[in-house]
Amino acid sequence: MPDPGLTRLTAVAMSDRLRAGDLSSRELVDAHLARAERENPALNAWLVIDEAGARGAADEADARLAQARRNGAEALAVLHPLCGVPVGLKDLVSVRGGQCTAGSRILAGYVSPYDAHITERLRAAGAVILGKLNMDEFAMGSSTEHSAYGPAANPWDLGRVPGGSSGGSAASVAAGHVPLSIGTDTGGSVRQPAALTGVVGMKPTYGRVSRYGIVAFASSLDQVGPFGRTARDAAMLLHAIAGRDARDSTSAPRPVPEDLLHLPASDDEAAAGLRGFRLGLPREYFVAGMEAGVEARIREAVAALAAAGAEIVDVSLPHTDYGLATYYIVAPAEASANLARYDGIRFGHAVRGGDVLANYVATRGSGFGPEVKRRIMLGTYALSAGYYDAYYLKAQKVRTLIKADFDAAFGSGIDALVAPVSPFVAWPFGARLDDPVAMYLADVCTLPVNMAGLPGMSIPAGLSDGLPVGLQLIGPAWSELALFRLARAYEAITAGAAWRGTEPSGLAALRAQEVGVP
Ligand code: GLN
Repeated sequence: MPDPGLTRLTAVAMSDRLRAGDLSSRELVDAHLARAERENPALNAWLVIDEAGARGAADEADARLAQARRNGAEALAVLHPLCGVPVGLKDLVSVRGGQCTAGSRILAGYVSPYDAHITERLRAAGAVILGKLNMDEFAMGSSTEHSAYGPAANPWDLGRVPGGSSGGSAASVAAGHVPLSIGTDTGGSVRQPAALTGVVGMKPTYGRVSRYGIVAFASSLDQVGPFGRTARDAAMLLHAIAGRDARDSTSAPRPVPEDLLHLPASDDEAAAGLRGFRLGLPREYFVAGMEAGVEARIREAVAALAAAGAEIVDVSLPHTDYGLATYYIVAPAEASANLARYDGIRFGHAVRGGDVLANYVATRGSGFGPEVKRRIMLGTYALSAGYYDAYYLKAQKVRTLIKADFDAAFGSGIDALVAPVSPFVAWPFGARLDDPVAMYLADVCTLPVNMAGLPGMSIPAGLSDGLPVGLQLIGPAWSELALFRLARAYEAITAGAAWRGTEPSGLAALRAQEVGVP
């Protein structure tokens, strides 16, 4: 029986023990597989758990680690710290020979013929891919309820959503099925589920991570990002996947900071970084309808940062209000073009028996769910002759104004912005499903960051009514390292908070029956 205690370690601790040789990747992977297999019927976080593939990759990682240990300290130092560490992938990341459903029936049965760039990078690092994670269909949604494979649950309360669209990625990390996972964020889909499940999630700068081999939703907004339970863990994963890839012309030739692997381990050193740091608090992000408990946690977090030496400056991002409306023109417009390729001929699901047009209509009619159809209709409408100027072009102009707001704030000497992620904590299944606009409102504080192409992250900032609240950190382009340092500093100054040690409550009953769990 594998030791379930191993699933509580940070990825950094796993990495250290793997290198030291007092833990094998195989033991680590077995412990995580056992936990994932056991709890997935309740969570539905995983669409597929690849036991055989994971065990094979773990054995390879163990061989690499053993060889490096024999060759000495230098050989160990060149191994990426992810070597032997389990990771999960949102089911829109291509893995050669495996499924890639993007949460949609239309990709059922499709097998990826190649690896995504980030899959190649993870394999090269020696990371062990445990399986593929549940998501809203084509990443459209904020609750994972739009998955064609049933919703994922929140580990804090199995009757509530984990957020979305990367709900499975967030839930799996919160539950300890993996220490790290990959999600994508087009309008908030890494940050919002991270907030609702109490983990760290980052959307990097547009262009930081290659989108090659990632199922496209809205190509000018999509970014791949890491989830972890700590800042150091998530930074380690970003380090492995970031960097230029010639196959994605929008991926930037920026060097990836090595210091992503060297965030301070010591709380004192981490907290010292806050002194003199200028944090802007955008007043427009405290939106009408925000839950009082969420606002209280955010204000407390800001006060704690101030008490530790950060300077807090009140700022205004005046076009924030237009973020939601412009996003819901731009993203559906791009989606309608990207999703035209699912025609029953090239990929997965196909309904045949009529002429080409009839097959096409039947394939798409039965293959896409209602939210995807809604987006395609919105997008084709906004792009159609006569409406293009009024909607799409206008939205692009407003997008420029949203970006200019951020430029002005950062240009005035602000190092980073602090804000809420979601106006509300995780909600019960069904509560927003019949009202698309109520669902869209979940991302009102995250969408502007995608419109501007900036890095943003969510870090745990306590509980409201026993459910996690996320604090958002937003920085200028390419400031991921500074954001991670800030996140690490916030962890350090709140290291003693009671909520830090709180386990996701929704799994407590399941785990009470587990033998040997401390
Ligand atoms: N919830 C937003 C949407 O439905 C954002 C999704 C995302 O970031 N992928 O479009």
